[in-house]
Amino acid sequence: MLANQSTDLLFELSQPGRRCHRLPDCDVPRRDPAELLPADSLAPQPPPLPEIGEIDLIRHFVNLSKRNMSIDTNFYPLGSCTMKYNPKRHERLASLSGLAHLHPLTPDAACQGMLQLLWELQNLLAEIAGLEAVSLQPAAGAQGELAALLVAAAYFRDKGQRRTRVLIPDSAHGTNPASAAIAGFDAVSIKSNDRGLVDLADLKAKLDDRSAVFMITNPNTLGLFDEQIGDITGMVHDHGALVYLDGANMNAIVGVTRPGDFGVDMMHYNVHKTFTGPHGAGGPGAGPIAVRGFLAPYLPSPLVACRECHDRSKEEADESGDGRSYFLDYDRPKSIGRVRSFFGNVGILVRGWCYIRTLGPSGLRAMTENAVLNANYLLARLKNVLEVPYGNRCMHEFVASARALKRNQGISAMDIAKRLLDFGYHAPTVYFPLVVPEAIMIEPTETESKATLDAFADALHRIRGEEPQFLHAAPHTTPISRPDEIRAAKEPILRWKS
Ligand SMILES: *Cc1c(COP(=O)(O)O)cnc(C)c1O
Repeated sequence: MLANQSTDLLFELSQPGRRCHRLPDCDVPRRDPAELLPADSLAPQPPPLPEIGEIDLIRHFVNLSKRNMSIDTNFYPLGSCTMKYNPKRHERLASLSGLAHLHPLTPDAACQGMLQLLWELQNLLAEIAGLEAVSLQPAAGAQGELAALLVAAAYFRDKGQRRTRVLIPDSAHGTNPASAAIAGFDAVSIKSNDRGLVDLADLKAKLDDRSAVFMITNPNTLGLFDEQIGDITGMVHDHGALVYLDGANMNAIVGVTRPGDFGVDMMHYNVHKTFTGPHGAGGPGAGPIAVRGFLAPYLPSPLVACRECHDRSKEEADESGDGRSYFLDYDRPKSIGRVRSFFGNVGILVRGWCYIRTLGPSGLRAMTENAVLNANYLLARLKNVLEVPYGNRCMHEFVASARALKRNQGISAMDIAKRLLDFGYHAPTVYFPLVVPEAIMIEPTETESKATLDAFADALHRIRGEEPQFLHAAPHTTPISRPDEIRAAKEPILRWKS
């Protein structure tokens, strides 16, 4: 390792008396802290902060930042996460001081521009969903799921119906059953059939008047569009239950079809996935939910409303703005209440608005078509390298399997994922969805060039020919090779102790 890539902490680099800069002595007379605060509120001594010069401080952080993998530095085919490039013009717009520095307690009358933007975004997301009402509040997809399930619970309570179950396919993201449990429902698993789609017989057997919601991800986490969706929504509605769409895979259908048109009653968006916004490492997201009109009264409060806009679909509203006033509507007695402070993660919502307005209807459709094209190109190039258990065609992602490699040579999905890091690629999603053993889930997104996809396919071809022992020890070029996965997650060391 190069000397300037030291892993020492700032505390370890500290030398008494070092400073980043020196200020002239203050000419305001210094007062004894004991005169200002009661003695028991004073620390016995100053905190032990590192003492370090500016150049060492900067090198420390810049070198740490170079260890980061990001979409700005590397191809990032992390399935289900839609790691597309985030255009820099959105960053510029989102950092305009009128948007970025707006205080969240600014009265409505003094932040009309921001409220108009959020109101327009509510309408754009409603239109793309084919549903009537939108709340921008939830801070991520998972919180959108929870908020929507609370909306469903409030709806059934209001109708005097006691429904305790949420039905979820076994290929679903783990957040689906978790959200159902947190919202107070029992999560019931529905089997997938041999084509990776919902097993209709199992759904039929488990649907009854205890069912509140059927949660479906379509296209699903195998990258397959479940064309039985018409039958499914019909069956669910026949039992008086609601259909929820996990919208994490909207990148495969925006501008081509609308969830509301195929029978969905409620859904979430992952704005940070589908409509760009830097994400990863738990960073800020936005998980707006869209619902049918009859569920709108239960949405979180407040919603952004427009006093003079009776018809929300009026096109001119976007352009003219004259004579309209926007406000936060708290007068919603059936609402489930707040799920997030202030207006939600506004910074990501602004970027999403920029993205949708920049691309427009035909641009959004082109986004979807290219995402699907890129994934199918990669699928075709990789089919003879890795087994792809479900289908010759996919939507915006596909799931390969290292099952045969594992059986014959002991090479696991993890070995391949780790080795890809040596080639400068972020690893694909592995071991998810659970219905595929040794899963390797690949989502290239529409923003990658053919050259990048070809280079990635070539790397996998090469890895396929490498020795098992060599792969077990990969990655070979990163500062840390294989941390203990469980301990790294369960016992992270977050504090320095002297
Ligand atoms: C990402 C994802 C979620 C959760 O969304 P977050 O925004 O990460 O909370 C749920 N379902 C699927 C299929 C996903 O890919």
